[in-house]
Amino acid sequence: MWKDASRTPLSGGHRFTSLSDRLDRPDLNEMLRQPYPGCTPLHPPAYAEDPGRARPASFFGRMYGTSPAAVRAHLVKVNWFGQELPFSRVNGANLALEAVAHDLAARPELKRYLTPSAGTYLWRVVAGSERQSAHSWGVAIDLNTRYSDSWQWEGHQEFARGIGYRNRMPQAVVWAFERHGFVWGGRWYHHDTMHFEFRPELSFGRC
Ligand SMILES: [Zn+2]
Repeated sequence: MWKDASRTPLSGGHRFTSLSDRLDRPDLNEMLRQPYPGCTPLHPPAYAEDPGRARPASFFGRMYGTSPAAVRAHLVKVNWFGQELPFSRVNGANLALEAVAHDLAARPELKRYLTPSAGTYLWRVVAGSERQSAHSWGVAIDLNTRYSDSWQWEGHQEFARGIGYRNRMPQAVVWAFERHGFVWGGRWYHHDTMHFEFRPELSFGRC
């Protein structure tokens, strides 16, 4: 239920025909189908384990903006270790990112993983798909590409078996984000280890 008392149904009534279809046309039930293991020890995800990767575009558009202009109207600057990064203030996403920065500032040995950030807001679809990226809504951040690993760099088709998993992001970085309501792309079979996005409906825990 939204603040104006209107409702979005959990089911969109669509019968999924494939794993890709689940990502192309997810409803809220599909978004919530795989529990996000926030604040648990890092581990390589199982085949097709992608908790948080399904994003109903209409839901996020309504929350954060359905056009670049609408999203930009909500963006404010967050100081990320000296970089001024635009981030949405909707749902306090900017405050959550500031809290992550505050926690991680106490761990100078982790700074090389965090900065330079490869970016936050960018209105775009996910490469090779028609799915809107979480970066479009100003609630995602990419960290230092130098320590990043991505399934897409391995040359596999999506949902291919045997996509090799690699991660160099320390657990302390992941947990700092997760404790403030972010999900991490390194918990996906289709891993993207520099990527974090504010998803307080999915990620919460004590760590
Ligand atoms: Zn990203």
